[in-house]
Amino acid sequence: MKVEFSKHNLTQSDITEVVNVLNSLFITTASKTKEFEEKFAQILMAKHCAGVNSATAGLHLLLKSIGVTEGDEVITTPLSFVATANVIEYCGAKAIFADVDLVTGLISVEAIENAITENTKAVIAVHLYGNMVDMVELKKLCDKRGLYLIEDAAHCVEGERDSVVPGEFSIGAAFSFYATKNITSGEGGAVVTNNSDIANKLYTLRLHGLNRSAENRYGKHVELDMEVPGYKYNMFDIQAALLVNQLGKLDENLKKREHIALTYERFFNEAGLDYPMLPPNCKSARHLAVVYVDALKRDEIIKKMQERGVGVSVHFKPIHLMSWYKKKGFKEGDFPNAENISSRSISLPIYPKLTQQEQEYVIDSLKQSVI
Ligand SMILES: *Cc1c(COP(=O)(O)O)cnc(C)c1O
Repeated sequence: MKVEFSKHNLTQSDITEVVNVLNSLFITTASKTKEFEEKFAQILMAKHCAGVNSATAGLHLLLKSIGVTEGDEVITTPLSFVATANVIEYCGAKAIFADVDLVTGLISVEAIENAITENTKAVIAVHLYGNMVDMVELKKLCDKRGLYLIEDAAHCVEGERDSVVPGEFSIGAAFSFYATKNITSGEGGAVVTNNSDIANKLYTLRLHGLNRSAENRYGKHVELDMEVPGYKYNMFDIQAALLVNQLGKLDENLKKREHIALTYERFFNEAGLDYPMLPPNCKSARHLAVVYVDALKRDEIIKKMQERGVGVSVHFKPIHLMSWYKKKGFKEGDFPNAENISSRSISLPIYPKLTQQEQEYVIDSLKQSVI
């Protein structure tokens, strides 16, 4: 048997949407992108949404929109995908890491407070696994210290904590539609914000810094202008076409992942295996199903599971232990909780198309590999 680590959930209706766009006049950023942005903003209860070509692009634009530049420091978690920290470096600013909570894996608000200096400009909170950071406490801290708060919500379209959703308490939240994420266009992303100044900056910066998109220029001559060189980060209509119908299935697919997650957790409890705990009052987006095993056996367990045809992964190798960050002076032992969790983590398959039989096979393979 072979069980893939991830499978997308695109259907004939998504393909039909793409074909419709391909048969229309505009295939770049136009009405489909706008339709997606309006629907996505509504789901997140946000005033504005800017479609972009990745979460990385979205995070970069958010940092640019708040003016992060050389000499600034931005605090984030070491237990994330490299992009979360790389965008800080793109701005010529310095990525500062704050350790995570050992029980949830989420960045600790207390550790953030301890990492603040006079150069700190912003904090990027990462809703790891689809579980939200304590936005109520973190917003209080950021308000008190005059810091911008940004969310990396790449895992967390459907998440909620204390009835707060991504984008609600921050200057902006970035989402990913990369191939393995909860909804996908292969590559893609979006930013939501309730701040119209930021929204306008996002719309301009995502398309070269120009004041008009191709559709807005169509059929009329308007003089182009550019105040600041922007980027080529715009979402386009073929991507948006793949995404619009997936928005109608968020709840249905979350329920399926929730069922899979609870089935895994029942087994973990029986087997005495640890796994990330949900924070209180948290509705998880159930993006990843992670189990914590003995660090000394972790790589061997992964090898055994792969030999049995089960796709597994690790989320994440701590960012500060990537060679480039090590060259900047970070070293093993700097963030013990993130390192501890990382060394024990295995991510298991979790997606709507995973069958009961496949999940039983994954669980059986884990059982056989752990002993
Ligand atoms: C996937 C991911 C990203 C990057 O998303 P892209 O859309 O590929 O740029 C950023 N942060 C986290 C936590 C992710 O998992």
